[in-house]
Amino acid sequence: MAAPNSISKTVSILIILMSFLCTKAFSQCEDATNNPCNNKSKALPLKIIGIAAILITSLIGVCLPLITRSIPALHPDRNLFVIVKAFASGIILATGFMHVLPDSFDMLRSSCLPADSPWQKFPFAGFVAMLSAIFTLMVDSMATSLYTRKNNAIVDADGGELGEEQAVINGTGGVHVHGHHHGPLKGAIGEQLLRYRVVAMVLELGIVVHSIVIGLGVGASNDVCTIKPLVAALCFHQMFEGMGLGGCILQAKYKTLKKTIMVFFFSITTPFGIALGIALSKTYKENSPSALITVGLLNASSSGLLIYMALVDLLATDFMGPKLQGSIRLQIKSYAAVLLGAGGMSLMAIWA
Ligand SMILES: [Zn+2]
Repeated sequence: MAAPNSISKTVSILIILMSFLCTKAFSQCEDATNNPCNNKSKALPLKIIGIAAILITSLIGVCLPLITRSIPALHPDRNLFVIVKAFASGIILATGFMHVLPDSFDMLRSSCLPADSPWQKFPFAGFVAMLSAIFTLMVDSMATSLYTRKNNAIVDADGGELGEEQAVINGTGGVHVHGHHHGPLKGAIGEQLLRYRVVAMVLELGIVVHSIVIGLGVGASNDVCTIKPLVAALCFHQMFEGMGLGGCILQAKYKTLKKTIMVFFFSITTPFGIALGIALSKTYKENSPSALITVGLLNASSSGLLIYMALVDLLATDFMGPKLQGSIRLQIKSYAAVLLGAGGMSLMAIWA
């Protein structure tokens, strides 16, 4: 009894999916005013339900890795923590490669842009993504070298001071020496943590563009037939992406207030996009040249950033780090987690 039921369910989901893809392909450029599914008054309540549903699922997704902190097996020193991080990194990588980059290619090569414009003659999406990856590397390396230099200067100064203080101690029995003892050690730990924090924040910015844009699409559409399946897909999308971001927020070890701000900021992006789309639905046309170019360029730059950060700052850092280099077994488990995260997020690319 259950098997035929689930098969028919799968088939109907596939049909909904195909029809969604087809309507999307046919309604290119033109105003879909003669679409029988268009119904503004019926679409609005659906969108409002969508805002609430996506807000809740985003919150669940992003909080899931954070809540697991209370589970002893997920303590930062444990193996499971490394595997959860690998899973999160896979999600971020797939967001860049499978969601944001293809979107920007679609937009900047759209047939709705004039046929003789430079957009049709040069793959700007790939070009901007590449420049953005190089730029991210530049900021990464320069910020690190500046920070290291500053830190070394402090350590050197500490060394000098320590010598002077030593002399003072010998003379008067000093009290100032405390706090300088573990200067260099503290600096090393601080640098890694600072890196994690910068990574978490930049990743959030990279993800935000995509989250707002997909929300904008729902908000601006009045197509009652596609809103329901699209909102359902976006719920999964945001939950999964939230898990990826949550994993990165987890390793940044933020204080509660900052963590709350990051969680809140991520969770409201897609609902905000929908609200913005509703407000702008008269003027905003998804397929107008200006919207295509602006959003396409934003997507291209955030895809370069996401891909660079996922590969270099998240995956390479962990896999080349001492913990994973010490155990082939753990490496294999972590690669499975990366593939699972990347595969799951790639699957979401079918819908949004
Ligand atoms: Zn997506």
